Amino acid sequence: MRGVVLHSAGDVRVEDRPEPEIIEPTDAIIRIAASCICGSDLWPYWGIDPVTEPTPMGHEYVGFVEQVGAAANNVTVGDFVVGSFFASDNSCEICRAGYQSRCVHNVPIGSIGTLGCVS
Ligand SMILES: [Zn+2]
Repeated sequence: MRGVVLHSAGDVRVEDRPEPEIIEPTDAIIRIAASCICGSDLWPYWGIDPVTEPTPMGHEYVGFVEQVGAAANNVTVGDFVVGSFFASDNSCEICRAGYQSRCVHNVPIGSIGTLGCVS
């Protein structure tokens, strides 16, 4: 898999990244159909926020579910999904109240990166 990685201010590279894996039982693997740069990607790009290590970019995306963990009950393979900065699992009280971005189990997608392509 190829992904976009910021190495330092203004230094953006497309490079090999590990294939995604199901780690948590609530995980899903998404084949990205489209992704984009978020305004928060631009702070380190312009050198306003420091880049201390190579950082995968992107966290706004749409795509198709390719694989789900054993406890991923709300999506199935083939579903078309929309994601943003935080992934949520829809299992906690806050998610059930409709505020998935504040899920107690949220995962910041910005640290994973969604910009890339399959090579
Ligand atoms: Zn939740």
